[in-house]
Amino acid sequence: MLAIDVFTCYGAAGAGSLVGLGLISQIRTDQNRVRTALALYRWAFCALASLLLIVLSPDAWRPVVTQVAIGLTAAGVALLAWAFRQLNGRRTPPRLGWMLTGAAAVILWGVAALGSATAYVQAVAWVFAVVSLAMAVDQGWLILRSPRIQRSELSLLIVATAFALIWLITLAHSVNADGGPYPAHWLYAPDWLLPITALGFAVLPLSVASVVFAIINQRLNQQLRNRALSDDLTGALSRRGLRELGERMLSLQAHLPTSVAVLMMDVDHFKAVNDRYGHQVGDDVLRQITQVTRERLRDDALLARYGGEEFTVLLPVRSHLEASAVAERLRQVLASTPCETRGGPVSITMSIGVAFHQPERTLEDALAQADACLYEAKQAGRNRVVTARPGV
Ligand code: GH3
Ligand code: MG
Ligand code: MG
Repeated sequence: MLAIDVFTCYGAAGAGSLVGLGLISQIRTDQNRVRTALALYRWAFCALASLLLIVLSPDAWRPVVTQVAIGLTAAGVALLAWAFRQLNGRRTPPRLGWMLTGAAAVILWGVAALGSATAYVQAVAWVFAVVSLAMAVDQGWLILRSPRIQRSELSLLIVATAFALIWLITLAHSVNADGGPYPAHWLYAPDWLLPITALGFAVLPLSVASVVFAIINQRLNQQLRNRALSDDLTGALSRRGLRELGERMLSLQAHLPTSVAVLMMDVDHFKAVNDRYGHQVGDDVLRQITQVTRERLRDDALLARYGGEEFTVLLPVRSHLEASAVAERLRQVLASTPCETRGGPVSITMSIGVAFHQPERTLEDALAQADACLYEAKQAGRNRVVTARPGV
C-alpha cells in the first residue's frame, strides 16, 4: 500500500508552478537573452500549472482532464529544456523550439485518443525520458566545456539527471507492461519508484524556479562586477579590469596547451578625427570600434580600453600564426567598416602590435612587448600588424 497519493502530487506540482510563475515574473533584466529565457519559463510554468486542473476537476471529467494535463506537462518540460538552453546563451531556432514543444503534447494526446492503454503509458514514458535526457546531456555538455564550474549550473545538471534517470527506469518498466490495468493517474512507474516519481513531479516546478533564481542572481552579480571593471565610454574593460581578469585568464591558461596573445591596438591619426569632426564624433568612433572588435572576437577573449584611443585584446590561441591572423582580420575589418557616428560615417585605420605571454613573465611584460610592436607598426607607416618573434 502506497503512502503517497499521486493525484495530490499533481496538485502540488500545479500549485508549485503557479508559485514559480509568480517568482519568475518578479525578475527584471535588461539582457534580451535572459528576457527571452524568462518568457519561456513563464510559458513552461503555465503549461505545468495545468496539473492543478486534475485535482480540481469533477470526478466524471478527471480521466480526460488528466490526459490533457499530461500532454501539457510534456510541453512544459520541453519548454523548460529550451529555456535553459536560452539562459545558457545557446540559440534554438524558435520555430524548432515551438515545433518540439507542440510535438511533445500532440504525440501524447494523439496516442491517448487513438492508441491502446499500453501504447499510452509507453508514449508517456518515451516523451518524458527523451526530453529530460536531452536536458541533462545538454547541461552536462555545457559544464564540460566551460572553464569554471558554477554551483548553480551543477545543481541544474543534478536535477535534470535525476529526472532523466527516473524516466528511463519508468520507460524500461513500461516497455515490459503486460497490458494493464493501469492506474487512473497514468504514472506507470515500478512500485518502488512511484513515490519518488510522484514527488519528483511535485517538487520539479519549485526546484526549477529556485535554480533559475540562483543562475540569474549569479549572472547579475558577475555583471555588476564587470561594470565596476569596465570603461564608462565604451563598455570595454578598464585597465584595472584588464589586469584583474587578465591575471585570471593567465592562471587558467597555465594548465592548458594554449597560450595567451596580447594585441595592442591604436587608432591611426585619431587626433585628426577629433580636430575635423569634434570630440563627440571621436567618442562615437571609439564606441563603434569597441563594438566591431567585440563582435569579431570569441567569447573567451578580453577586450579593454587601455587608454585614450588605445585598445588591448587578450586572446587564448593555439599558435602564434593564429594570433597574427586574428589581428590581421581585425585590422582589415576595422579599416573597411566606416564607423557610424552622429556626424555620419567616419573611416579609420588601426595599427596593431602582437606579443605573447611567456609562462615565467608577467602580464605587464607582454603588454610592454606588444606596445613595442605597436610602435614599430606606427613607424613602418601605420595601418598594419607587427608580431613579436616567438620566444622573444
Ligand atoms: P597616431 O597615429 O600616432 O596614433 O596618431 P594619433 O593622432 O592617434 O595619436 P595622438 O597620441 O597624437 O593623439 C591621440 C588623440 O586621442 C588625442 C586625444 O585628443 C584623443 N583622445 C584620447 N582620449 C579620447 C577620448 O576619450 N575621446 C576622444 N574623442 N578623443 C580622445
Ligand atoms: Mg593613435
Ligand atoms: Mg595613442
